[in-house]
Amino acid sequence: FAALSGAPAVGQAPAPTSSIDEAVKAKADTLIAQMTPEEKAGQLTQFFYFAQFPSNGAVEKAIEAGGMGSVLFVTDPSALNRLQKIAMEKSRLKIPLLFGFDVIHGLHTIFPVPIGLAASWDPSLVEKAQAAAAAEARAVGLHWTFAPMIDVARDARWGRMVEGAGEDPYLGAVMAAAQVRGFQGRGLGQPDRIISGPKHFVGYGASYGGRDYDEVNLSDSELWNVYLPPFKAAIDAGAANIMSAYMGVNGVPAAANPWLLSTLLREKLGFKGFVVSDNQAVQNLVTQHFAADREDAAARAVSAGLDMEMNPPMSKAAMSSLPDALKTGKVSQAQVDAAVRRVLEAKIRMGLFEHPYVDESLTEKRLNDPAHLALARSAAARSAVLLRNENGLLPLDRKGVKSIAVIGPMADSERDTLGPWVFPQNNPKATTVLAGLKAKFGPAVRVDYSEGVRMPQRAFTSPFATLDPRPKLTPIDPDAEFKRAVDLASKADVAVLVLGEAFDMIGEVASRSDFSLPGRQQELLDAVVATGKPVVVVLMNARPLDLKDSKVAAILEAWYPGSAGGDAVADLLVGDAAPGGKLPFSWIRSAGQAPYTYSFLVSHDPTNANKRYWNESNKPIWPFGHGLSYTQFSYGNLQVEKPTYGLGEAVRVSVDLTNRGKRVGEEVAQLYVHQRYGSAARPVRELKGFQRVSLKPGQTRTLRFVLKPEDLRYWSAASQGWVQDETKFDLWVGGNSDADLAGSFEVRGK
Ligand code: BGC
Repeated sequence: FAALSGAPAVGQAPAPTSSIDEAVKAKADTLIAQMTPEEKAGQLTQFFYFAQFPSNGAVEKAIEAGGMGSVLFVTDPSALNRLQKIAMEKSRLKIPLLFGFDVIHGLHTIFPVPIGLAASWDPSLVEKAQAAAAAEARAVGLHWTFAPMIDVARDARWGRMVEGAGEDPYLGAVMAAAQVRGFQGRGLGQPDRIISGPKHFVGYGASYGGRDYDEVNLSDSELWNVYLPPFKAAIDAGAANIMSAYMGVNGVPAAANPWLLSTLLREKLGFKGFVVSDNQAVQNLVTQHFAADREDAAARAVSAGLDMEMNPPMSKAAMSSLPDALKTGKVSQAQVDAAVRRVLEAKIRMGLFEHPYVDESLTEKRLNDPAHLALARSAAARSAVLLRNENGLLPLDRKGVKSIAVIGPMADSERDTLGPWVFPQNNPKATTVLAGLKAKFGPAVRVDYSEGVRMPQRAFTSPFATLDPRPKLTPIDPDAEFKRAVDLASKADVAVLVLGEAFDMIGEVASRSDFSLPGRQQELLDAVVATGKPVVVVLMNARPLDLKDSKVAAILEAWYPGSAGGDAVADLLVGDAAPGGKLPFSWIRSAGQAPYTYSFLVSHDPTNANKRYWNESNKPIWPFGHGLSYTQFSYGNLQVEKPTYGLGEAVRVSVDLTNRGKRVGEEVAQLYVHQRYGSAARPVRELKGFQRVSLKPGQTRTLRFVLKPEDLRYWSAASQGWVQDETKFDLWVGGNSDADLAGSFEVRGK
């Protein structure tokens, strides 16, 4: 990853020279001057192509006619070169196609799901992982990923929480920028990098009831302070594309919302790239009770600032009605040309006119780069969160353990270990926990396996079921298998249960109104715990699950850990890797508590007991930022450099972190602030800094944090703008959002 060393820091946009900008503009001008209205509409359209759904030549014909600017879902380099050849040799203007795909957490080598990557609290690791994913994408000929998903998610019922960085805008912004840098590098056109398209603009995570695609209504204050910071960070890191969201925001669908796409995104956030709609979201403007017909939809989307329609049905692309809309004046020539220019500029900057094809002879080697698998293993280990570890059960006593019972529907499921947004067409592989433990312990230790219970089907079929079906399993006798699992546990020195939600129970169209373990998993867990044997639960999931106060001694959150997942879990269970990840969301008690964040008043204020539910505590089971290690850390000597600061001054804080245990360990030290009073009431706690550090036994390190003026600023509804108040702040530093080592400072005018 030598290429990364010079990557711009968070907040720094890549700076192409102006002569390049001028050359790009001139080339786009020349093309636009030659294009027919139909060819312009074509550049603004992206079609789906999947080798297994032959298009009967319709895709090929559209490319030849100049009716298609981009293709999604092709990842076979020869198919991709074949389509590109049509564009380059048979279309009138020889404008190359842009190939896009959802490279969410790897293409062939799979990294942990994004919520897991965020749980590492390690932006440089996340950047490296997405750089490796970009290199693999480029190796098959892709130019563009619809990632990262940077929607803040405070409602764990929403299945897409798995794709983002969780509930916090600060952590979300850091992870958004890291991913954009990883995918894209320092601007477009570098080898091994692809266009990054952060999504979904904006507020998708706030849909009513946690239901996917449902309406979103957001106050300006929430928008600016919670949902926009990751987008701001992604844009500042140079993101060249943005995907608009599906749903309506305050009543106006995001794909044709001029305030969102022009005023907010381009004018206020300074976005310079092109905007793609979500899947079929332009034609959906009709079914969303917003546009009269497809022509109206296309005209209003383009006028609002949208540039490309994703995946319309072949014969019904909304953008294909733009030539008519131009004639009737529903959309202006300038607006259409601006959209076309933004798409062309991306292609020019990517160097596609000069290098439209991928070298198929290199693909296999580049996909199987051993460095990627090694990185996937360390990423999976660094993402894992040790939720509970009683009586020092973990790490397992390697010498003492002679037999292990590995149990559960996910224990030997490659597909579940990989997680959602992984497609069989890219031939991804994973080591399962069973395989990882066998490899780790070798023949001297007996490792028995039982599936225990079968994962149930979802209540309705996943929309991805055709592209990514559940693997077929040999039928089992449910009662016999259950009994066998419990027997194995009772005969083993330790039982490792791998439980959670199947890969298709999370992600898009996978919201849930209940957080219990699906199927008979809880019953299995209870029966295994009842054997009295030491039990370790390894979880593969991406939302808080309710384990019903189960008395299990150790719980390791592995997320969906990816290609090297089983090896990484084995590394962690025996202590070859030190768990140091932290939860990027509050692990709430029940779905009834959602939406939730540690920043809400009730979560930290004991005087607010009367605001709680009468049936359960407001406190989550584990707070945001929680995660244990195999050693103990203590915090002390919190120092705020001065008692009083001027407005706009940086606040310096230091704290001593000590490893009090006997093992090397990793800790994520977190800094939270609270503004006591001001022009608006601020959250009771807000994350404003963190660092992940490794400490030897007995070692103390002084950690330094700097609160920049923008960290103390917020968007105030009182003045409809950004303010920094003259006020008093509390701050806390510690290992999670309940940290109690406190300090304070004041901010005054001069
Ligand atoms: C999702 C997007 C995704 C697109 C293409 C949509 O349904 O909302 O996040 O990028 O499909 O697969």
